[in-house]
Amino acid sequence: MEFNIPSSAYVHIPFCRRRCFYCDFPISVVGDQRNGSNSGTIVQYVEKLCEEIDRANNFGESLRTIFFGGGTPSLLSVSQFHQILERLDRQFGIASDAEISMEIDPGTFDLTQIKGFKSAGANRISLGVQAFQSELLKACGRTHVVEDIYSSIELIHQSGIENFSLDLISGLPHQTIEIWQDSLDRAIALSPTHLSIYDLTIEPQTPFGKQFQPGEKPLPSDELTADLYRIAQQKLTHAGFEHYEISNYAKSGYQCQHNRVYWENRSFYGFGMGATSYLKGDRVSRPRKLREYYGWIEAPHSASETSQIEYLLDSLMVGLRLREGIRLKDLTERFGESAIAQILDCLQPYEKGAWVEIRPDRIRLTDPEGFLFSNVILTKLFARFDED
Ligand code: SF4
Repeated sequence: MEFNIPSSAYVHIPFCRRRCFYCDFPISVVGDQRNGSNSGTIVQYVEKLCEEIDRANNFGESLRTIFFGGGTPSLLSVSQFHQILERLDRQFGIASDAEISMEIDPGTFDLTQIKGFKSAGANRISLGVQAFQSELLKACGRTHVVEDIYSSIELIHQSGIENFSLDLISGLPHQTIEIWQDSLDRAIALSPTHLSIYDLTIEPQTPFGKQFQPGEKPLPSDELTADLYRIAQQKLTHAGFEHYEISNYAKSGYQCQHNRVYWENRSFYGFGMGATSYLKGDRVSRPRKLREYYGWIEAPHSASETSQIEYLLDSLMVGLRLREGIRLKDLTERFGESAIAQILDCLQPYEKGAWVEIRPDRIRLTDPEGFLFSNVILTKLFARFDED
């Protein structure tokens, strides 16, 4: 199989003030008073992370997208952020018009810091708003309150970064249609260039997992959850956002280029604790604990080569998330006519049910119903190829 040369890098900054009640991400909790300037743990991590970058293979193309995800990357000091970018530049080169995104959380940075992040190269911000009701934020274990959201937006404006995205979560405990509509309206009023809307997933090992049963009160029922999705789709498209991916909306010209790499099943570098890289068909997941990650840098291992069938299923799983779907020509070239015939056969009933559109040149899910029931469709596709 042929794979594209990577030109994107994900960098994981795994520190958070506290752990939110629904979160099972690979993170390390540093408390309310610590950040990159006064935490030995963060200082050590940045050193190790840079070491990992220095040791990486360079496949020959400079980076066109870089995404600092977390955790809470805004807990880094400006000089740490700068240092990581410098090392990436030295190792791979960074294109002059590269998209450099940074996830930040309300209340975790000041004006000097955000201006410093911008001067160092950040040109896209993703702000973890989650909800616009302080009682909901508290119930989720978030460290911020609603006022922090507004002051953070003010700081982003003052920094001169125009491209900013807001994250919201639907399906939170005690969230009603009215509360959800209020969150969406307030988000729209802030004029972001992009919005990510995530449906709450209850992970078994989290406080929410121990406290709540999916679909049961105080969590919304499955019907209500579906309605929240439809409401977001209606409100946001009406406000001029393009629903370009199952969970993502953008004003024209502001789709997240980095995340598109994942949805197009292209190669990318990954750095940091818990990060995954995908290079030449090898998916490598780093350990999710600091000490083990530090050991792993010395002796990287556990590459799992992607088989042809896994690659096909991955391509379907991520590609059908996009509004434009998947080009049949690309699928045929990679996987042959018979695989495509099986896919189309499997999708036929969903086309009748108006969840899938099969066009001469592409297949795609409909918006919002196909997107909403994408899991049902993918389960069917996976089962079909498992039989073979
Ligand atoms: S801020 Fe994000 S990564 Fe950190 S604990 Fe909360 S949900 Fe998890």
